[in-house]
Parts: sequence; C-alpha cells; structure tokens
Amino acid sequence: MSLPAAVPMTVHARGCNELPVLRERGQREVFCGLTGIVWLHRKIQDAFFLVVGSRTCAHLLQSAAGVMIFAEPRFATAILQERDLAGLADCNEELDRIVHELLARRPEIATLFLVGSCPSEVIKLDLGKAAERLSQAHRGRVRVLNYSGSGIETTFTQGEDNCLKALVEELPTAEPTMRSLLVLGTLADVVEDQFARMFQQLGIQSVQFLPPRQAGDLPAVGQGTLILPAQPFLGETVRALIGRGARLIEAPYPLGAEGTFAWIQAAAQAFGVTDERLRLATARPMERARSALARFRDTLAGKRISFLPDSQLEIPLARFLQRECGMQPVEVGTPFFDRQLLAGELPLLPDNLRLSEGQDVDLQLDRVRSDRPDLTVCGLGLANPLEAEGLRTKWSIELVFSPIHGFDQAADLAELFARPLVRCERLAV
Ligand code: SF4
Repeated sequence: MSLPAAVPMTVHARGCNELPVLRERGQREVFCGLTGIVWLHRKIQDAFFLVVGSRTCAHLLQSAAGVMIFAEPRFATAILQERDLAGLADCNEELDRIVHELLARRPEIATLFLVGSCPSEVIKLDLGKAAERLSQAHRGRVRVLNYSGSGIETTFTQGEDNCLKALVEELPTAEPTMRSLLVLGTLADVVEDQFARMFQQLGIQSVQFLPPRQAGDLPAVGQGTLILPAQPFLGETVRALIGRGARLIEAPYPLGAEGTFAWIQAAAQAFGVTDERLRLATARPMERARSALARFRDTLAGKRISFLPDSQLEIPLARFLQRECGMQPVEVGTPFFDRQLLAGELPLLPDNLRLSEGQDVDLQLDRVRSDRPDLTVCGLGLANPLEAEGLRTKWSIELVFSPIHGFDQAADLAELFARPLVRCERLAV
C-alpha cells in the first residue's frame, strides 16, 4: 500500500507479520453467532430471521435486542422441544407450519433466514433441506436461506459472516467488464451514506453495499468486482466472493482518521483516482476527525490496554488506539487470526505486543491479572469479575452496536475507550 506525502503513516519494519501468535484452545467466553441478528435485522429491512432453537436462544435474542423492539420484530425463535430421531418428521412439519403462518401474517418479508443453533434437536434437523423445501413451497413469494449461529460453531460476529456467505450464492452474476466496488459488512445507515458520498466525490461510479438495505437489492458480482471489507470478521464471505470471480482490496479498516483514509485510499488507487482528487475529497473530513480526536488524547495516551478475544475487531482497534490515541496495547486477543483479512493491518501494529488467538479463559485472566492494564476490553461475562478486582473494563459488544467507522465517528470511537478511564478518575477523587 502506498501513501501520499500528506498523510505520513509509519509502517513498522517488522510489524505484527512476524510476531509469534499465542494459540489457545480451551474454554472460551464469547457470545454465539445469533447475536448478529440484532444488527442484521435492523440493516436488511425486508428480511426476517427465524432462529430454530431453544428457550435459551430466545432469551439471548430478547435480552440483546429487547430494547430495540418498538413494533413487530423481524426475528423470532421457533422453539424445538426434546425429540428423538423418530420425531424429526414432526419437527420438519412443525417448522413448515410456523413458516407458512409467519409468511401469511407478514406479507412484507422478502427473505427469510432459518438460523441454526446448538441444541441437539436442531443439529439433527437439516436446515439446508428445510430452506430448499420452503423456497419451493413459496416460490415467487419469498427467498428462504439458512445459516448457522450455533454457539458450538460460531463466535459472536461469525453469525454475520455466515449470513452474508449464504447471500453470496444468491447474488446475480455481473458482466466481466463491469467494474464495481463492493463494500462488505454491516454499517450503520448514516455511515454507509457518508462512504457512498465520499466514493461519489472520488468519481467511483458503481458502489454497492453487502448486506443491502433491502434484500431484493442484491449487488451483482463478477470478475470486475473489487471487494472492500469494512469489517474484519467476514473471511468466509470474502472467500465465497473470490470464488465468484471478485478480487479483494487489501487495506486497513476504516477505524480512526488514519484508518479511514487508508481504506478510502486503497479503493481510490484500485479505481485509478488521482492523488490530488483523493486529497481534495478527504482533507477536510480528515482534519475534522483529527482535531476531534485530539480531545481524547490526554486521557488515552500512555494508558495500557488489553483485548480479550471476542469480536474480531481487536486488531484494527488496537492499531487505532496505539497510532492515533497513543495507547499501549499489551495483549491483543482475537477469536481467529485471519491473515488474509488482516494483511492491511499487520504492518501497522507495533512489534512489542502479545498477540493471541482463541482462548483458554483461565490462563488469559491470569495474564490480565499479572499485566494489570489500565483498560481491558472483554465480553459482558468477564467485565464484572475484573471490575471487582480493581481493573477497568470496556464491553466489546458496544463496539459492534455503535457506529464507529469513518472520519466523523473517529472521536466517538476514542470516547468509548476514554469513558471508563474518566469515570475511574472521577471516582478516585
Ligand atoms: S445458539 Fe447455543 S449458545 Fe447461542 S443462545 Fe442458543 S443455545 Fe445458547
């Protein structure tokens, strides 16, 4: 990646590319992939997510998304009771009946996702076959797809990866000569609009987003499609798109002023946009973002931070906090270390951090206790015990539910990390 003189960006000689990765495969403390339904159902406005699961799955979704329900929700759980194999025919009949009733009552549903979970009764069901059968039964009325959000197979953000991968098979095929930019990953609508305007200013004509706001507006994909991931946890979707002929643009993720610039720049270079046009389009929002960020630098600079593996956003966030806010990452844990998706990030990381993949929660907590960072980013279940031990924490789930991408959100992102530190200082006075 080359960078214009206007935005000097230090690429570390060794970077994280050659750092050893501590791989752990023990007990893990993360949400399952069902959590993704919370943001996916808000994004794809004519889709419905039917979890085939247990009461636990229903409770998880209700508590994660409950505050956002103001009308008829676009997700539900079909609860399967304990059955043996002989009862599976009944399960399929029951599922068909629930889907028929749902579609009769909700004519606006254009795409229905059957989402698998981990109870043994659900594992015995073939949801792929159920989706085919229901697609046939409702041909011309609704598209029925399936994916797994099971806690056995997925961590928190992998649910989105599985959902989008299921959509890739449905994408129409683009003419090989049709060049287009495909921005990949759920973004808040306001952020998506900002990026769409930015690419328009750069003169990139055909820009599409996956997932789309309407499930019927699926982007076409082909050899002229260039994928620009906005989220680092979509490796399977990226590889499925590459399988359809698309090519991946290597870039850091659009977190922070520098990260957003580098992400836009990578797209601009892929489409032959001149440096001058790029500078004109980005100079003001970049300057705005930098001066807004400066407000949080005093609070964050010099503070030590550890990330426990959760959302797969950990590496881009550590890069942003170290380079733009002056924080010192101690350990950066990620559920999966996907070199292909992180290729644009790794050279930007310092070479003195501890990188870990997967989790053995007791060992990891021992390291946190020994490191005693100023801030630990972790899941909800680990935050309270760490706080009780006098460690400050940040819930990683907030980073997925908040608009954090782009120039105009850079300061909001820094503030999310500054808040627990400021609160701690105030309590100490
Ligand atoms: S999918 Fe599994 S881990 Fe997730 S809520 Fe349901 S039972 Fe729990």
